[in-house]
Amino acid sequence: MEREKFEIGREIKVVPAWAVVTAILLFAGIQFAFFRWLWPAEQHPPPLALQVFFPVMVGSILAFLALLIGYVNRDAGRRGMNRTLWTLLVIFIPNAIGFIIYFLVRRPLRLQCPQCKAVVDPQVNFCPSCRFSFRQTCPQCKAAVDPGDRFCPKCGLEQKAEKVTS
Ligand SMILES: [Zn+2]
Ligand SMILES: [Zn+2]
Repeated sequence: MEREKFEIGREIKVVPAWAVVTAILLFAGIQFAFFRWLWPAEQHPPPLALQVFFPVMVGSILAFLALLIGYVNRDAGRRGMNRTLWTLLVIFIPNAIGFIIYFLVRRPLRLQCPQCKAVVDPQVNFCPSCRFSFRQTCPQCKAAVDPGDRFCPKCGLEQKAEKVTS
């Protein structure tokens, strides 16, 4: 199975706006709660550095979780998985185990054929509806070959060498 390329910029765009807003509110709310209620109630509050560090850390973790939940909610949809089910699983399975399971079992992204716009399985070499070629294939057996391969990994046919001299 081909590994999909991870581009952080493209993945960040998957996070929905409601998750970003929730993350910001959570972060701000935690700061407010610490400085408005928790620290004033302390008889012996910790040094100022720790008074700043704790709420920032707790707020960051909660904000990150909110973003990740939003990511899973949208990402499951574009992979043809059950969005509600996976959103609930990552929220309610403790210790982030739901997230680990999600990233282990999530289905590959589906491809859209640039020629006929059909949604196809990412493993295919040709579009099933218009025969568009998604990758270099062996002229004999049509198996996918990497651009650098000299021989077809499936049938052994020598590929037309571009840079390799034999
Ligand atoms: Zn097509
Ligand atoms: Zn072949």
